[in-house]
Amino acid sequence: TFHAIRVSKSDAGQKTDFVDITLADLMEGDVTVAVDYSTVNYKDGLALTGSAPIIRSFPLIPGIDFAGTVETSSHAGFKPGDKVVLNGYGVGEGHHGGYAQKARVKGDWLVKLPANISTAHAMAIGTAGYTAMLCVLALEHEGVTPDKGDVLVTGAAGGVGSVAIALLAKLGYRVIASTGRASEAAYLKGLGAADIIDRNELSAPGRPLGKERWAGAVDAVGSHTLANVLSMTRYGGAVAACGLAQGLDLPASVAPFILRGITLCGIDSVMAPMKKREAAWARLAKDLDLGKLDAMTSRATLKDVPQLGTDILAGKVRGRVVVDVNA
Ligand code: NAP
Repeated sequence: TFHAIRVSKSDAGQKTDFVDITLADLMEGDVTVAVDYSTVNYKDGLALTGSAPIIRSFPLIPGIDFAGTVETSSHAGFKPGDKVVLNGYGVGEGHHGGYAQKARVKGDWLVKLPANISTAHAMAIGTAGYTAMLCVLALEHEGVTPDKGDVLVTGAAGGVGSVAIALLAKLGYRVIASTGRASEAAYLKGLGAADIIDRNELSAPGRPLGKERWAGAVDAVGSHTLANVLSMTRYGGAVAACGLAQGLDLPASVAPFILRGITLCGIDSVMAPMKKREAAWARLAKDLDLGKLDAMTSRATLKDVPQLGTDILAGKVRGRVVVDVNA
């Protein structure tokens, strides 16, 4: 048997248990992985607390990502001993996920880890960090280079935000970090932020067009914040939108698009094609400073996961959390 977290649902609501299960309890798949680490992303918080209908099949082992070592495989691309990472594909939503010592999934969902990324670092990055990389790739694709001007990161002290700052700073961008946690200023500067602004500057309804303040942005927040970020993006710039920490709505106008030619890039990590994932993980291996990654990472065990789910929704988790499922 091995340890897992299981979420079940009854008329009384959703409930989380620590259980001991066997391989026979896992769902179908052609690769079995000994999980080393998982993590807690914002979406895991939504799933664990039941505050959004993330889990589509009960009972379910949550955890939208994991990294570990292949134990058995009938998939041509993987053999025992391979170090792999899984992000998304509905794992932790409709298929048993990463909060267990073992996982069985489709090999088509797995990415082989680049040699210099350990399974612990892979989960320090996690879906949040891999999504931050997808955002940076989108800005590059739209021609937002460091010489074009500053780049804003919203939700800066969170997981996506922290990794985005570290990546952008290493790539030579001047980064403005927007946070609600003034107390994290030193932390954010340590990751490479040049300027810090209070997120209240962006979170209330604003004007269709504002002063041009940044050439690009990574937005993990949505709602009025994203609308204001768009309205203050420089002529020809681009914004990568990946999150909804403030809200799912987008109360914006078309002014930034039709008067400043700016581009809004939608970022999805869950169903991103394999080529894009491999490109993102290869770039993470090259462009993420592992010292900065360690500085933004804290450690936890499976027992800590339910509380962390509540904390991340409350905006109380700083940076990234690695969950050692074997501790
Ligand atoms: P996280 O660690 O909780 O980061 C979110 C940050 O947003 C918080 O740390 C906080 O930063 C800020 N925030 C929280 N509540 C806010 C509010 N009401 N108004 C304004 N800012 C607020 O979560 P994460 O795992 O990095 O995920 C960030 C977002 O990206 C989530 O919405 C998540 O669902 C989304 N996401 C999407 C994808 C995708 O595929 N599109 C993938 C991963 C994540 P400060 O304290 O610094 O203000």
